[in-house]
Amino acid sequence: MKAMTSHNSPSELIRSAGLEAGACAVGFAEALPTGPESARLYAEWLEQGRHASMAYLEKYQELRSDPATLLEGARTVVSLAFSYRLPHGAPRHPLFADYALGEDYHDVLRRRLEPVCALISKLFPGAATRVCVDTAPIHERLWAVRAGLGFIGRNSMLIVPSRGAGSRVFLAEIITTALLPPDVPLSFATHPCGDCRLCLDACPGGALDCDGAFDARRCYSYHTIENRDTELPAAVNLRGRRIYGCDICQDACPFNRQEYIGPCIPEFAPRPQLTALKKAADVASLDHARYLELFRGSAIRRAKLPQLIRNALRGGASTSPAAPEESE
Ligand code: SF4
Ligand code: SF4
Repeated sequence: MKAMTSHNSPSELIRSAGLEAGACAVGFAEALPTGPESARLYAEWLEQGRHASMAYLEKYQELRSDPATLLEGARTVVSLAFSYRLPHGAPRHPLFADYALGEDYHDVLRRRLEPVCALISKLFPGAATRVCVDTAPIHERLWAVRAGLGFIGRNSMLIVPSRGAGSRVFLAEIITTALLPPDVPLSFATHPCGDCRLCLDACPGGALDCDGAFDARRCYSYHTIENRDTELPAAVNLRGRRIYGCDICQDACPFNRQEYIGPCIPEFAPRPQLTALKKAADVASLDHARYLELFRGSAIRRAKLPQLIRNALRGGASTSPAAPEESE
């Protein structure tokens, strides 16, 4: 929810610049520490081992809990959501999650946020900015909630109700020393998901709890992208499913079935070289050179070639692949 400010105020100019950069929602939050309750919940989640093998999530807890440790003198966190909805009528890909079909969002968003940072520096001479796109240790969803962009659904994702954006969004933050009036978080009398539990029922791995706690050990998205083991657990059944990422809980969500009326970012449109890969066998037979060529500038490079081949074989590919060379 927007704070009361005039159209030409610095905060509205910055909000407009964020929207012009392609964001579907932009909000501001005071750069205060995230607080003991958030730290407690996160520590509990880690203690339960729900982060699976993602040991990097155990690091930098101090940085995660206070944006001023990421940028000295931080006063505001600008939170931005960018939709990666496929253009209307575009076919879904059988192998790869929607978010991974276009250009790597890390590069795209950093590029698109440059003019927003330049505007902050112009409006607030001497102000410092730091852009975070997924890789910095920051609780992105929490900042998006504080900045009034949306709420965290039972699928554990940020849901942006405005413009029908739903949960198919990338989040980015600009931490800045400039002081901007904070927006008001959305408020709900009851859980914003209501009685719905469609995502819980649809999840093939049982990775979601009713309280919104997510268990990566049961999540197919985790296993196909982050799990580096030679073999996937026997329970992970990828037949007829994607071999990189999983959109099932998002597909089930009513907030993602609303008409989206915000901007579509051209760089996120499916790349032809990926849409040409139709079957798990097409991936299982890739060699290293082809892997590098196909996935250059793609978020799919997060999975190395041996992982992709492992996933493709679990997805039903029967081709005997050439022995994979070690990928970068
Ligand atoms: S991404 Fe797939 S496996 Fe993971 S929580 Fe959602 S539905 Fe379940
Ligand atoms: S599917 Fe239902 S319960 Fe799950 S996030 Fe969406 S609204 Fe909430």
